[in-house]
Amino acid sequence: MTLTLHFAKTIVTGYGPKIDDGVLLEEGGNIVLVTRSDDEVLRSYLRDPSVNQVHHGASTLIPGFLDIHTHGALGHDFIHPDPEQLKNVAKFFAGEGTTTFLASLMAKPRHIEREFLEVYGKMDVPEDGARWIGIHNEGPFLNLKFKAMMEAEGIRKIVKGEIDDDVQLTKNKLRMVTVAPESDGIEAFIEECHHHQVAVMFAHTDATAQQTLHALAAGGDGFTHLYNAMTQHTHRNPGAVTAALLEGDSFCELITDGFHIDPLVVKLTYQILGSRRLICITDANPAKGMGDGEFVFGGVECVNVGRKALTKDTGRIAGSTIGMIDAFKNILEFTGCPIEEAVEMTSVNPAKLLKLDKIGGLKPGKFADFTVLDERYDVVSTYREGKKVFQRETERKLYKILPVFNYRIWGGNRLKEKYGYVSDLPNIGECYNVIAMKGHLDCTVEATGQKLSDFFTAHRDLFKSGTDEMPVRTAMANPVIPMSIQLHPDDAYAMKHEGKKGKPDGVYFIEGEGTMVLGHTAKTNEEFKAKVDAKAFDELVRVIPVKAGDFVDVPYGTLHAFGGGVTLIEFTQNADLTYRLYDYDRIDPITKNRRTLHIRQVLDNIRIPNDDTRPVELHPFEKEGVVQTVFHDEPGVYTAGKLEIQNEGTFRLDEFYFLTVLEGNGKIDDQEFKAGETWFVPCEYPSIKITGKSCIAYVTYRREGKI
Ligand SMILES: [Zn+2]
Ligand SMILES: [Zn+2]
Repeated sequence: MTLTLHFAKTIVTGYGPKIDDGVLLEEGGNIVLVTRSDDEVLRSYLRDPSVNQVHHGASTLIPGFLDIHTHGALGHDFIHPDPEQLKNVAKFFAGEGTTTFLASLMAKPRHIEREFLEVYGKMDVPEDGARWIGIHNEGPFLNLKFKAMMEAEGIRKIVKGEIDDDVQLTKNKLRMVTVAPESDGIEAFIEECHHHQVAVMFAHTDATAQQTLHALAAGGDGFTHLYNAMTQHTHRNPGAVTAALLEGDSFCELITDGFHIDPLVVKLTYQILGSRRLICITDANPAKGMGDGEFVFGGVECVNVGRKALTKDTGRIAGSTIGMIDAFKNILEFTGCPIEEAVEMTSVNPAKLLKLDKIGGLKPGKFADFTVLDERYDVVSTYREGKKVFQRETERKLYKILPVFNYRIWGGNRLKEKYGYVSDLPNIGECYNVIAMKGHLDCTVEATGQKLSDFFTAHRDLFKSGTDEMPVRTAMANPVIPMSIQLHPDDAYAMKHEGKKGKPDGVYFIEGEGTMVLGHTAKTNEEFKAKVDAKAFDELVRVIPVKAGDFVDVPYGTLHAFGGGVTLIEFTQNADLTYRLYDYDRIDPITKNRRTLHIRQVLDNIRIPNDDTRPVELHPFEKEGVVQTVFHDEPGVYTAGKLEIQNEGTFRLDEFYFLTVLEGNGKIDDQEFKAGETWFVPCEYPSIKITGKSCIAYVTYRREGKI
């Protein structure tokens, strides 16, 4: 049988401290050894040419996740047994680092329940993707009062012998049930379950703490989605939660989506119970992986909005949309626990609960089920029994971005001339080199043909910006007559009044010489308003000289307008909100209208006084053959600068970035470029080598609080 050595920067086994420079030795799908790479024991294996070596680089290797509570994904609800769908979902789960899962079912009337349990009994375990090991029946012996979103018709009193039946029907695939601990006959029920190695979990219950403690003493194994659908811990009416926090060795599931349980409560629970008693689950609904929209869950109409899932009629929570990898990252974030403990809660503990010998953690004799994470703990690949069942697809390479052109009343044709842009528009007043506003201005990614906004959504691992939308944008402009006098509001104002982001600008002058409006001369609000009313704009605005090579920062609330005779490039966050104070009473020759003014909004946002404005003092420095100039660097907003190369140089950023070539041509690595082009470089990309005399602008985005 073939032996394979998997090398990783860190291996977390779930048993003891993590191993730096670790190696996992796998044979025939099982783990033979996990140790440090300098362990003497490895010598013979390293010398043996028949032993495979897989190097996972600077990654972290952890046990594959075991999700014991999930209702489906990709539109498939486990309540409808279907071998093909099960295969798809199993593959999908592997992508979130899961190597084993239980399919959770909701309470249904007995005749329906029998039917689908029987179908599951005949179903094979899919060979690809995560391993399906059976059923968690979330019911039917629950308390109606805490049915949550379940069908009332599905809920009933304990019927002796039904578990025996279910185990027969499913051919031993029933692994776990959820039951209300106050049910009559709970002791005998637990015995019946344990006789078949079925774990008994409590939830959907109206039990008092005493009733719950009694059921735990009778052998109950733990709690399904602790805190949800059960009596709470209150000081005069202690409930099921009190019993869970009190009793020493039951397991407690936590839905760590940050929504079912407040992160502070997750943290407190961890402090009380410790990692040994907690199990992270997704309790994911069937629409996971499908984005926002409506879906049916256990027969109930629901809707996913953002990361929340709700029933349509009452707005009740309808499961989560997270994956196990999110649960894993969240438990680290919410509790501050070490990674070793996060691994216990996502792999070791659920395996202990279900008494699975071959699964849970990494140690000799167990299945080689593991997940490889990058520096940000995103899933790179997933292995089940030593076989790769998932590999992250997106190719890390340079992508050419095609611009969007816009006609402007004040625009000229210098951008067409200088950069050879082709367009039928009477002028290219503005050229958006980087913009991703879905359904509006949106660049195209040449290699994939996708709009940049879709590319961003589909390949978040290339950006890792932590934002819902692509956070930055870049546009070139060529005003031949002055642009309107305007300002941009801050985010708070823009959100409140327009439901979108504000837009602080930064502008670099590529060529030409001229003037621009920046700030104003008024000392008080009254003075400002009086001059606006009198249309005394010449007196009001401050005009400063600008020339090629200058960078002007335009913070929120700063009056500005670019004059003619220059070509410029603007950097900003991905927003498009401008309030115009004055447009010289011009009539747009195309629309035959005056453009709208926003005097009140300008008055709401204007900085007063604002009379000390000038281009930013720049400090170029040389590094590895590149003269770098940082124009502006503001985490959470945008970071931009320029790179000047004489012959050859190298450049690297941790974040993703866009390069827009202002002058010259040459090569980035093996990729030829010329002036006017824009290239996207994914995050965590190695150093790029730039050859050829050129001047290149870059824009990137740094997160405010990085994990
Ligand atoms: Zn539930
Ligand atoms: Zn559930």
